[in-house]
Amino acid sequence: MLLTISTTARPATDLGYLLHKHPGRVQEFGQSFGTAHVFYPEAGEDRCTAALMLEIDPIRLVRTRGKSSPDFSLGQYVNDRPYAASSLLAVALADVFRTARAGRCAARPGLPAVPLPLSITLPALPCRGGPGLARALFEPLGWRARAEALPLDPAFPEWGESRYVRLTLHGEVRLADALNHLYVLLPVLDDAKHYWIAHDEVDKLIRAGEGWLAEHPERDLITRRYLGRRWSLARAALARLAEVGDDVEEALEPPVEEEPEGAAESRVPLNTLRREAVLGVLDEIGAHSVIDLGCGSGRLLADLLKRPALTRIAGTDVSTRALTMAAGRLGLDRMAESRRSRLELFQGALTYTDDRYAGFDAAVLMEVIEHVDASRLAALERVVFGAARPGHVIVTTPNVEYNVRYETLTGLRHPDHRFEWTRAEFAAWADAVCDRYGYTVGHRPVGDDDPELGPPTQMGVFTRV
Ligand code: SAH
Repeated sequence: MLLTISTTARPATDLGYLLHKHPGRVQEFGQSFGTAHVFYPEAGEDRCTAALMLEIDPIRLVRTRGKSSPDFSLGQYVNDRPYAASSLLAVALADVFRTARAGRCAARPGLPAVPLPLSITLPALPCRGGPGLARALFEPLGWRARAEALPLDPAFPEWGESRYVRLTLHGEVRLADALNHLYVLLPVLDDAKHYWIAHDEVDKLIRAGEGWLAEHPERDLITRRYLGRRWSLARAALARLAEVGDDVEEALEPPVEEEPEGAAESRVPLNTLRREAVLGVLDEIGAHSVIDLGCGSGRLLADLLKRPALTRIAGTDVSTRALTMAAGRLGLDRMAESRRSRLELFQGALTYTDDRYAGFDAAVLMEVIEHVDASRLAALERVVFGAARPGHVIVTTPNVEYNVRYETLTGLRHPDHRFEWTRAEFAAWADAVCDRYGYTVGHRPVGDDDPELGPPTQMGVFTRV
């Protein structure tokens, strides 16, 4: 994991004073998750480059996660963290260049205030939202940004692009500002859940964003993502940035999966409306048994358990983390036996046939199909409609036509969405499934049904013929 900062301001070696790191030395700084090395590949009068290389120790990284929810997957050991410039690089940068980031330089007191010709290179940066988003975040800050998507595998160009970019920034910027831009925007582009999010993150964001974040055109996206989509924190931060309440509520009307935390919303959140719509259909059908395919953190399962008419309820997901959350939400370990005996919770992938999916009156695929690669969707159809073959399948998915209504949305509604469909696309898919597997389908809107754009969520109710 590498970051280089170069300047051509003469004498370029002043960069060493500004960074408080001697150009002639290689230095190491221990981090809780690895080691940060600082060295200068070049240090001349005309051009000087400082490099920050971060070596991640994946084992230590896992161990320092502390009390975050248990995760037993291999993914926490085998992942991109050692190689890609993620939030960990931002943490190391903040630590190693603390004085520089604060704009202090005892040896050359006037220097931090001066904008310098800088070039910054990050050879591999995870970038949810693609190269366009990287440019949209850095260019308003005075950088000329070049972001090139890296191929998934150079040997197989047909596989397409990865979610990593090579980012180069050029500009006349104060070094402290440059470091603060990186400190905030690297985790924003990475958009992985950071294990270090705590309440003082709001303060850190406000401090690092001083002088540039409040006016940034992507202020809302930056704030939401930096705070790991924790709505309550994002709301607090935006309120401080905007110093008002009204447009903050607007900005946070969540186009994504999360519900605003503890919000006294006058409008019912979309995910509540979705659950109500699904429950309504289950009532109409008169279902006694139901399986929630891709149950996520188990919100719908909690509602299902409250309905005595449902004598058999199952929830399944490919993510063990989601299942751990669901078990926690439902209080599985302290559930009364009468309730516990109605519920099954298990891990499975919907693209592989599994006997455990069969034998239910109804199956729910709520906001799941859009998380499955288009090339794997046929497998899911086979597994659900071909093999499990419940009497009814309730499918919900975003209506992409409605996305223009979400002012702060750039791209799709969730970073993991592989596609979002128009009403016509969803209808065509549903018809093809019906033809292939012997179902009929009826469509229903969920949420405010806009006369032109349609509803935010579209729902198809499939009935076996
Ligand atoms: N149904 C829930 C969660 C939607 S998020 C709700 O509406 O709130 C999508 C969920 O689908 C995630 O929990 C994800 O882990 C799961 N998922 C994605 N692909 C899957 C697959 N191939 N097999 C099983 N679950 C999958």
